[in-house]
Parts: sequence; C-alpha cells; structure tokens
Amino acid sequence: MRYLIFSDVHGNLEALNVVLKLAGGENIDQYLCLGDLVGYGASPNEVIDKVRALQPLSIIRGNHDKAVCESESLQTFNPIAAMAIRWTKENISENNLDYLCKIKKGPLKTQDDITICHGAPFDEDYYIFGEFDAAEAFLHIETKLTFFGHTHFPFVYKEKDHLVEGTYVSGNFSKLKLKKKTRYLINPGSVGQPRDRNIRSSCAIFDSEAGEMYFHRLEYKIETTQKKILDAKLPPALAKRLFAGI
Ligand code: ZN
Repeated sequence: MRYLIFSDVHGNLEALNVVLKLAGGENIDQYLCLGDLVGYGASPNEVIDKVRALQPLSIIRGNHDKAVCESESLQTFNPIAAMAIRWTKENISENNLDYLCKIKKGPLKTQDDITICHGAPFDEDYYIFGEFDAAEAFLHIETKLTFFGHTHFPFVYKEKDHLVEGTYVSGNFSKLKLKKKTRYLINPGSVGQPRDRNIRSSCAIFDSEAGEMYFHRLEYKIETTQKKILDAKLPPALAKRLFAGI
C-alpha cells in the first residue's frame, strides 16, 4: 500500500493542489489526513471539496475544524487565529460545514499497523514538541507507526528499547527506511502553513511494502494564496507569514 499523509491544510487551496498533483503520479492507494482542513486560509470550501473527494480517505478532525463546528469560546486561540475561525464560520457552505463537523476526533487506527492523530494520541490539542512529549505519546500508542500533525513541523521520533530520539526533517526531499523493532511517531509537516521557515508545502508518502517514508516539500504560488487572504479581509499577518514560513 502506498499512503499519502498530509495535515494542516488550513484553507490553502494552492498548496493542497501541488500536493494532490504529486499524489496523482505516485500510485497512492490510501489518503491519510491528520486534520485542520480550515482556519487561517481563504479557501475552506474549495479545500473541503477536494479532500472529501479523495478515495479511500482516513481523516480525523483538527482543533480548528472543531472550533468552526462548536460554539465554545475561542479563548485557546490567539486573536488572529480566532478571527480566521470566525471568518470561516461565516463563509463555509452548509454542506461543507456538515461534512467538517462529522469528521471524528482522533486517534484512529487504520490498516498496516498505523495510528493517526492531530496533536497527540492522548489529546488532540496537545503539541508534541520534543522527545519528552514524544515519549509520553508512545505510552498511548499500540501501533508501530503513528502520524500526527498540529505543530506544522516535519519531524520523526523513533522509539527503540524505550529510548526516544527526534529528528527534524530538513531539505526538500528525503527518504527514511523504517527499522524493525522500532516504533515511529511522524509529522509530515503542514500543507498550507509551514512553520519551519521552509515556505514550501509539506507532505509525506509511506510505502508499506518497502517500509519507506518519503518526505516532500513542494513549491506553490504563495502570491495567489496571499491575494485571496487579503481580498477576503482576513488578517494580513496570515498572508505575510506564508512568505516567512512561520
Ligand atoms: Zn494546524
């Protein structure tokens, strides 16, 4: 099986398009989406339309998806993120809102001994930002391989004999051969709002037969995405940060 793993699209259609274009040439058998289809970007409807058409798809919700669907306070979000969530609530179609709100909370076990979650397996809102967090996460995982999102940093944590080691996935392409007797907790990075100062869209492919992961960073037309954000009267900072990769 060949999987496309992607996360944190955040309403960025142009970035999603380059990821799906790559997937189109990669004989993908299964799509794994780790949440946050919306929030920040100006194309929530177009993004949901594209993602819901992917077959077969395993998907879990992210914290922004949840915030758009629930009426609870936006206190956990910074003011700019909260503004974008309010904007999304006003601009999402009824049909897409219905789809978004039916996406289940992770973690979710899929085939090939894989778990997917948004933040951490024990809390969808938790940021796994280091080896101690990862070690805690491994305690809650039964599968060999887990994919998570939320931090917008492509990262690989491996656990062998209870020792956890984390590595940032740098560069625009890299390959990882999965080892036996080792468990992995992997973040494919963010499609629509990378924060590791690499402005290219991030995603990963997993080939379960080869036991290999491939990490991709793809160029897209950031100017188009920025113009849409500005035209939609979303906070200009959301356009600006895409060029800084933060
Ligand atoms: Zn996110």
